[in-house]
Amino acid sequence: MRELIDKLEKNSVLGLSEYAELIKNFTPELSEYLFEKSRNIRHKYYGHDVYIRGLIEFTNYCKNDCLYCGIRRSNKNAERYRLTKEQILDCCESGYALGFRTFVLQGGEDPYFTDDLMVDIISSVRERYPDCAITLSIGEKSYGSYKAFFDAGANRYLLRHETANCEHYGKLHPKELSCENRKRCLYDLKEIGYQVGCGFMVGSPYQTAENLAEDLLFIKELQPQMVGIGPFIAQHDTPLKDFKNGTLELTLFMLGLIRLTLPDVLLPSTTALGTIHPRGRELGILAGANVVMPNLSPTNVRNKYLLYDNKICTGDEAAECRHCMELRMGSIGYKVVVNRGDAINFHQINSYK
Ligand code: SAH
Repeated sequence: MRELIDKLEKNSVLGLSEYAELIKNFTPELSEYLFEKSRNIRHKYYGHDVYIRGLIEFTNYCKNDCLYCGIRRSNKNAERYRLTKEQILDCCESGYALGFRTFVLQGGEDPYFTDDLMVDIISSVRERYPDCAITLSIGEKSYGSYKAFFDAGANRYLLRHETANCEHYGKLHPKELSCENRKRCLYDLKEIGYQVGCGFMVGSPYQTAENLAEDLLFIKELQPQMVGIGPFIAQHDTPLKDFKNGTLELTLFMLGLIRLTLPDVLLPSTTALGTIHPRGRELGILAGANVVMPNLSPTNVRNKYLLYDNKICTGDEAAECRHCMELRMGSIGYKVVVNRGDAINFHQINSYK
């Protein structure tokens, strides 16, 4: 197995069966072998810096019905909320004071937030924070909507592909959602000029090692600037509630493989990883990740954006989260930095931003 990791390090890609073989046969020893390499590459491009993104979960209304997600429209037990534009701007204000230079506006696919309203919100954030990056994570839209958001000042877009295998995609989503449209969105976003993030859940129901290998090959093909992954965590009010959670070990192993596959990619150590293990986010950094995304949402809505069970940090103030992250990263010899943390493999072609 070590030869395969050496080969991946050298070529930055493997064949489908080679990736699958690694994923099926990984051990703690092999993981350590991988992480030493993935950390080295990460240090080469990003040193010991950790980029922070301020996450603003501005609505948990959603018109979609993804089978794994706690804010799916059929979940009658989800207590719904929306933030106003003023509340979103307040989150940015406190985030800016805490050193955040990227704001991530994430939400369910909520028709209340029309394109016009989103453009208004994005333009207001852009006007007040010309030195910050604006990241959107609001799901599948038309080319025209994505373009309007970009023109209003958004720079980046996170849209996990969830799984590159269309048959697997069909087992996790209702039939009105398609793998093809999800991928179409990602290519549209790239074309428009966004820094794009795709990603997937590790250990999602019905997932095979081959599926994960396909995810890596899809990532290689798309060449995104960011890749967000985290373990699948069952949510008790969803149809997939009885499936097992993804593991810490496999998620870390996948982070290492992604770092070797796209050496300079921005790779978050996610909240879901921190949820399945108390030091999950630190271990993610040690496996090659270089981004963390603390929450800036107001405390009174924090405990309502529950995509999965036992989500951490739902009671904390933004300042506490920021401080906690500094300590956590410091404890493993890394440093949270105050800057936009743009992708280094990205050359802005179309613009002023
Ligand atoms: N509505 C937006 C934002 C989605 S929420 C969109 O469509 O992109 C962000 C991510 O949370 C999802 O892409 C999914 O990968 C992840 N997620 C949802 N439910 C989850 C669960 N039960 N366990 C782990 N991750 C989950």
